Amino acid sequence: MKTNTLILGAGLTGLSAAYHAKGTDFLVVEKSDRVGGICTSEKKNGFIFDQTGHWFHVKTPEVRSLMTRLLGENFVEIERRTFVFSHGVFTQYPFQSNTFGLPPQVIKECVLGFVKAYYENDKSKAKENFYEWCMAYLGEGISKHFMIPYNTKIYTVHPKDYASHWCDYYVPKPTLEQVIEGAVTAPEQKNIGYNAKFFYPSENGIGELPNKLFDQCEKEKFIFNTEPVSIDAAKKLVKLSNGTEIEYEKLINTIPLNRFLRLLTASDSLPACEIAGRMKIAHVSYFNAAFKKPCGHKGHWFYIPEEKFMPYRVGSFSNIFNKLAPSGKGSAYIEFTHQEETIDIEKFRQKSIELLLAMGLISTENDIEFMDYRKIDAGYVIYHKEYFDDMELIKNWCEKNSVKLAGRYGKWTYSAMEDAILDGMNAVK
Ligand SMILES: Cc1cc2nc3c(=O)[nH]c(=O)nc-3n(C[C@H](O)[C@H](O)[C@H](O)COP(=O)(O)OP(=O)(O)OC[C@H]3O[C@@H](n4cnc5c(N)ncnc54)[C@H](O)[C@@H]3O)c2cc1C
Repeated sequence: MKTNTLILGAGLTGLSAAYHAKGTDFLVVEKSDRVGGICTSEKKNGFIFDQTGHWFHVKTPEVRSLMTRLLGENFVEIERRTFVFSHGVFTQYPFQSNTFGLPPQVIKECVLGFVKAYYENDKSKAKENFYEWCMAYLGEGISKHFMIPYNTKIYTVHPKDYASHWCDYYVPKPTLEQVIEGAVTAPEQKNIGYNAKFFYPSENGIGELPNKLFDQCEKEKFIFNTEPVSIDAAKKLVKLSNGTEIEYEKLINTIPLNRFLRLLTASDSLPACEIAGRMKIAHVSYFNAAFKKPCGHKGHWFYIPEEKFMPYRVGSFSNIFNKLAPSGKGSAYIEFTHQEETIDIEKFRQKSIELLLAMGLISTENDIEFMDYRKIDAGYVIYHKEYFDDMELIKNWCEKNSVKLAGRYGKWTYSAMEDAILDGMNAVK
């Protein structure tokens, strides 16, 4: 078999590539039996769950107009209601500019630390790692009470052990005035940070998005339930698990980069397997939780920094749209990250219930209708020590071999759904 462009993976990135390649010669190879990757929804007993919270933050006019074309009026803008739950109280997100309501000693440490960082801390150290970034811009108290424990939970490693280049966009840097105001006045929802508003389909959960995109694609060009077993970049030949061989001119990779590297049969100057061996990723385990009553708090999602609670984040689909749960009922997701392949699911269940009770999302265990365990294998990329050097080598090799990396896992980075759509689009361009 021959094709001009071979796209590996039909998540949002691969789908966007296929959508934008319409009318050209291409094929998509997808391991599972459906499109959407981790941007899909499932239904059970009238509840709709996404693979944990998937809120669409749109910055670019291209993506906004594509979404409007695909979903029309069903793509609605929502003001986020996000909170941090720590020291037994809910404060508003972002933590750094909303400490009002915390114990006075905690507020004092956060504000004094921020003031000290503001006037004294060496900003040039921020580039060294994420810990130094937090100390340089947010100070000791905020780092101690939120940034370090929360990010250690989500990334499974201490912030000293990963890079900080992504922070300037994703981590809100408040002004001194905002920090002080947030410490002394009862909070109003402030529009600070990249995710103050988000979009969401009004019907069927986030899975509506890849489904609508797929409807507009040339479906006969998708090969499902199949994966590459080897990639010979010199011959531009991919062997598939169904025995087929595909010759290509250009290859767009959206499957996890560590897997892609291990499939290369000969990669010249690129030590592919050695680099793949260094790459680390956090797996995400989560529960789809259905409640017999609405959630006991109106928040959309909650950050849980304290170590005593196992999950790092909880969110509620039914608080976004009550039609995501049957009338009079509520729903939530509870997330935990880990590097081990498997976890003690029963322990995670018990710890999740303890947290739901502590937060008051449920009043008794009996409020739970069901809790289904799920796992996302590729969750959060951890920037290893040699990350930038390795990525430079990979980038140069890809340029020489007509390979384009796209998407959060194809590129091995931290990015969001909008980036997936843009990456897919740019890869075919
Ligand atoms: C827990 C979590 C929460 C998130 N929340 C948000 C959010 O709120 N807002 C936001 O914008 N973004 C969020 N994201 C990021 C967002 O999900 C991703 O950026 C986006 O969905 C990535 O799409 P993708 O197509 O690049 O990857 P994927 O969705 O992983 O798709 C890759 C596809 O490749 C297939 N595949 C894998 N291996 C192979 C193989 N060997 N051969 C063939 N096919 C293969 C998979 O089956 C899949 O279909 C979140 C991510 C996580 C993990």
